[in-house]
Formats: sequence, C-alpha cells, structure tokens
Amino acid sequence: MPGLALDAQCPCGFSSVVFPGSRVNPLSGLVIAYKPDGADLITVDDDEAKERGLRTIPDPYATLPLELAQEAKFQCPSCNNCSMYFVAAGLWD
Ligand SMILES: [Zn+2]
Repeated sequence: MPGLALDAQCPCGFSSVVFPGSRVNPLSGLVIAYKPDGADLITVDDDEAKERGLRTIPDPYATLPLELAQEAKFQCPSCNNCSMYFVAAGLWD
C-alpha cells in the first residue's frame, strides 16, 4: 500500500515521521493520530483510531492542494501551539 512519508516539524523542536495512506481509498487506510498521552504522533489504522478514540489529523497532502498542504498548521503534541507542519519526506510502500 503506497503512501507518503510525512515529517512533522514544529519550531519548538518537535519532529516525528508519520506514514498516512492509502492514496487509493482515503476512507480506509492509515491515519495520523495523537498518541493517547498526547505527547507524540503515531500512524494507526483508521478503524483502530476510531476504536481507541484517538484524535486524528487529516493528511493535508491528501486533502489540500500541495501549496496549502505545505503551509497547513496543526496543534503540536509537544508545545500545544498550532504551529506544527508536515513536510513531504518521500514515498514508501
Ligand atoms: Zn511544538
């Protein structure tokens, strides 16, 4: 299942790599979610995220035009500011 590796980065120093997918069917695949303790990001199965009640982040590269995806800001799990962004780090499969 090919997808995009995203490098989450925040000016506070937080960084984490996530692997959302699949690009073919965005309704069933891997999603970006906050860890239950809120301190980091994880990549989990969409169903698992729902079962565990995890707060998920929509993959900006799947939902927005490229220029907007690069500038989209999200709540950082480390400093809690809405200043975390995702850098496309390459394809994986
Ligand atoms: Zn931060």
